Amino acid sequence: MKRVKAIYPGSFDPPTNGHLDLIERGSKIFDELIVAILRNPEKDPLFSVNERRQMLEAMTAGFDNVSVDTFNGLTVDYALRMEAQAILRGIRAISDYEYELQMALMNRKLQPGLETVFMMPAEKYSYLSSRLVREVAQLGGTIACLVPELVAQKVREKIDIANKFNAGDVGSRAADERTAKMRERRAVNKKKN
Ligand code: ADP
Repeated sequence: MKRVKAIYPGSFDPPTNGHLDLIERGSKIFDELIVAILRNPEKDPLFSVNERRQMLEAMTAGFDNVSVDTFNGLTVDYALRMEAQAILRGIRAISDYEYELQMALMNRKLQPGLETVFMMPAEKYSYLSSRLVREVAQLGGTIACLVPELVAQKVREKIDIANKFNAGDVGSRAADERTAKMRERRAVNKKKN
C-alpha cells in the first residue's frame, strides 16, 4: 500500500494553536507528517530554531506519526530529501491565498511531482498568526487562548528578559548622562579657578 508522507514547513515563531490545529488535521490524512522549521538567517526571530523545535516537539508528543525537523534552502529540495510527496500549508483567509498560491505554483514549477495541500483551521483560529501573538504579548495582553500553555510561558519569559534588558539599557544611559554632566561641571569649575 502507498504511504503518503508530507512536510509542514514554516517559521513557527512561536508555534500557535492554529499550527497545532493544522498538525492535528494533517496527521489524520497523511501517514507521516514532518513539521519542518525553516532556518532563515534573514529573519530576526523571537525564538531560536532550537527553542521552536523544543516547543513543537512537546506540542506534538501525542501524535505517533508526527515528527519535528529543521531545514534551510528550498522547501522542495528538503521535501525531496525526505522523500515526501506533499507540502501542507494553511489558508486562514483570502489574504493568505495570493501568497500561498504563488508559492505553490512556483514549487510545482520547481518540482512537478510534489503536491501542495491546503487545509483550513477551525474558524476560531482563522485570525491567529505568530506575529499577532508576539505583538499582543509584547504589549502586555493575554495570549492564553492563542497558544498552548508551555508556549505562553516561554513567550512571557522571553518578553520579561527583553524588558529587563531594555530597563537596564535605559538605566545605564541615564548613568552615562549623569557622568557626562559631572564632567562638564568639573570642567567649568576648573576654568573658573
Ligand atoms: P511562514 O513564515 O512560512 O508563513 P508560519 O509559521 O507563519 O510560517 O506559517 C506556517 C504555515 O502555517 C503557513 O502555511 C500558514 O498559512 C499556516 N498557519 C499559520 N497560522 C495558522 C493558523 N492560525 N491557522 C492555520 N494555518 C496557519
